[in-house]
Amino acid sequence: MRIRTFRAYLRERFPFPVKKLPIHTFLGCPHREGRTGKGGCFYCNNASFALLDEVRSLDVREQVRLGIERARQRGFRGKFILYFQTYTNTFAPIEELKRQFDVAYEFAGDVVGLSVSTRPDCLGEEILALLSRYAKDMMLWLEIGLQSANDRTLRLINRGHDFATFRDAVERAKGFDGILTCAHVILGLPGETREDMLNTIEWVNRLGLDGIKIHHLQVVKGTVFERWYREGKLPVMDWREYMDLLLYLLPHLDPRIVVHRLVSDCPPSLLVAPRWEIDKSEFLSLLYRRLR
Ligand code: SF4
Repeated sequence: MRIRTFRAYLRERFPFPVKKLPIHTFLGCPHREGRTGKGGCFYCNNASFALLDEVRSLDVREQVRLGIERARQRGFRGKFILYFQTYTNTFAPIEELKRQFDVAYEFAGDVVGLSVSTRPDCLGEEILALLSRYAKDMMLWLEIGLQSANDRTLRLINRGHDFATFRDAVERAKGFDGILTCAHVILGLPGETREDMLNTIEWVNRLGLDGIKIHHLQVVKGTVFERWYREGKLPVMDWREYMDLLLYLLPHLDPRIVVHRLVSDCPPSLLVAPRWEIDKSEFLSLLYRRLR
């Protein structure tokens, strides 16, 4: 298919099925809390990541236990990567981060990896050294928000960091053994041309990232983007436009890079636009067919 999907990559690495188990730490985000800017990224509403209220009162250990139990009840016999997904998962004192990530060892029979999602300006040397220690014992993905390699776009969407900050974080992370780096990218950001997006993909290649997670722009309730969309200032893509865009960009991606995701996933109750007439699995099977 010209691309290396995360599922195919896991099959290369493990002789058993592996799936990601989302974990929510509620560590918050420095960007939302005024340390690097005001109000957070204009597209962000963390409630869209999951139905967070259900897990708000559970600590990491309890979430892992419950997640494994539910997967087993549904008949899943494989193992898990703990996915620290929401907010900024390195935004805490090092002892607290260690306590949270150490939970993986308590479930060593079931857990084979960690995936930690964060901002590039929240990755000090101490944190990278800590993550590298886990990488000796398990698969360790560090997912770093980029969204676009275009500084004009990053300013427009209020990311609170520039491309150089992302580049610096990736280059430093690559200096630590075992850390697999993954860039989060959004396609269809306001004002971006195909060439801007191609430039982002080419930077992902050039920096030697191990993975990429691609999202199409979705307008989520309660965000600045929702206001822009309702004022007619923010175009969104229908599924055909987005598929054409992917078919243009993906052949430029280094085929060694693991593609963790190709479509965004927002609960319907929070999604303003675009509302596609096909679902994610239909979209992906059509895309894979066209890629082949
Ligand atoms: S997208 Fe991430 S970095 Fe931006 S405000 Fe939301 S949690 Fe913070």
